[in-house]
Amino acid sequence: MAEKYDAIVVGAGIGGLAAALMLSHRGRKTLLLEKHRFLGGRCSSFDKEGFHCDLGVHLISRSDKGPIGDVLRRVGIPNPVKYVYVRPRSSYQGKVRTYPHDFKDMVPEKDFNGLMNFLGEIRSMPEEKMKGYDYTPLQTFLSQYTQEPLLHSWVQSICGIYTGCPIETASTGEFMRCLKWEAEARASGYPDGGCSAIADAYGDPFRKFGGEIKLGAKVQKIEVERGSAKGVMVGDELYQSDLVVSNADIQNTVLNLVGADYFPSDYVERIKGLTYTGGGGMVVRMALDKILTDIHMLGNITSLDRGEQARNIQQGIIPEELNLMLVVPSNFSNKIAPEGKQYVCTAGGGGGAVTKETKEAVKEAVIRTADKIIPGLRENLLWVNTTTGEEIENMLGEHGAGIGVQQTVDQVGDKRPKINTPIEGLYIVGCEAGGQGVGIELAANSAMEFMDEHCPIA
Ligand SMILES: Cc1cc2nc3c(=O)[nH]c(=O)nc-3n(C[C@H](O)[C@H](O)[C@H](O)COP(=O)(O)OP(=O)(O)OC[C@H]3O[C@@H](n4cnc5c(N)ncnc54)[C@H](O)[C@@H]3O)c2cc1C
Repeated sequence: MAEKYDAIVVGAGIGGLAAALMLSHRGRKTLLLEKHRFLGGRCSSFDKEGFHCDLGVHLISRSDKGPIGDVLRRVGIPNPVKYVYVRPRSSYQGKVRTYPHDFKDMVPEKDFNGLMNFLGEIRSMPEEKMKGYDYTPLQTFLSQYTQEPLLHSWVQSICGIYTGCPIETASTGEFMRCLKWEAEARASGYPDGGCSAIADAYGDPFRKFGGEIKLGAKVQKIEVERGSAKGVMVGDELYQSDLVVSNADIQNTVLNLVGADYFPSDYVERIKGLTYTGGGGMVVRMALDKILTDIHMLGNITSLDRGEQARNIQQGIIPEELNLMLVVPSNFSNKIAPEGKQYVCTAGGGGGAVTKETKEAVKEAVIRTADKIIPGLRENLLWVNTTTGEEIENMLGEHGAGIGVQQTVDQVGDKRPKINTPIEGLYIVGCEAGGQGVGIELAANSAMEFMDEHCPIA
């Protein structure tokens, strides 16, 4: 006899974990199925030769003060994760600067004033009014204040971190919310013990509330009968439930796990047409045999035209230096590297353009760039480990390695895929449906939206 649950959650990324935790807190007998042998999805970490390395995520926009902490507050669990706050800095042409103020001496006065007005307008705008900008491309809105390429490139670098989208298509409303929330919280940070600490902070209380986790459990099919979800298949095993919450890629959920025939054709066409963030560039992890830097986080801008850099890389033309984000997790937490050693990581190097063919050359360019920022890095390397966007995609799901369904003008607000689906009892949570905000906060917000709007208190 197949086991019956009040709720089944497919996938233990932050969206799935948050939903499962809140469901079990509401007294629902909940089963969480994860195809990998670890929790957290893109917000997970792994151990390598004494170093604790993150798979993808490296900075939490509002740390414990944002949605990641809100989920724990909702279930009455004190946050066990300590965050170390940081104010990200940037370097341009080899000089470390504090932006936006350092632009004063770098661009014409009218453009500097334009940028400050752009930022000021966003910070003072009520959230309700921001919705009116949801469908305006960020570049269009920014161009009203300044057309200076350096300033556009800087805004692009922030927009890339927030939404994974180019400013040409990114939603202004979504960018505004991310910026305002982050500026108000002043709590961007890194979790002590690495990003896996966040997944554990959700997984542990889930178990305490009676939730069951099965790792290495890949859902092959979501069962639907007469338009309603009935359970899931893992291998030959049927797990029954009238409530199935999928944290897997929305396209995979609709087209494969359920099957297009179960949905109205216009819904299927909409899901097929969704666009996703790129792979987020290549993550390059570098273990050093001594401590070389006190940098915590640095955005490195070398080329003002990010699109051009990506296009060049696609054609095999690898620049001397790359635009990238450099993070030194071991400067945030002493649980990351063995004593006396340092762990440096870069993300975004090469844009979304890194392929099997260009991987080695881009890795070399990343090391070259990092060695310029941290002199002596190359000669003190113990090992280098890389993951391309494509590899993360293959590992976790079919699409959306960077963030998920893009927060572009045609995919936010009312135009974002909904958490509920045409199938009764089937919901999507995570960065694929609903929610607002940056990366894992988008995923946590989606899970809270699911609880508020679709899961009445029993
Ligand atoms: C390189 C990189 C850097 C990033 N940096 C940041 C950052 O610094 N800050 C930030 O906030 N965000 C960052 N992000 C974005 C962030 O990682 C994602 O937005 C977020 O983690 C997505 O969470 P999710 O719950 O939607 O999905 P996921 O994390 O993808 O979780 C989905 C889960 O479902 C599982 N699954 C899929 N199919 C099945 C199935 N059939 N059966 C069972 N399980 C299944 C997967 O294995 C996975 O565990 C980064 C992403 C990348 C790739």
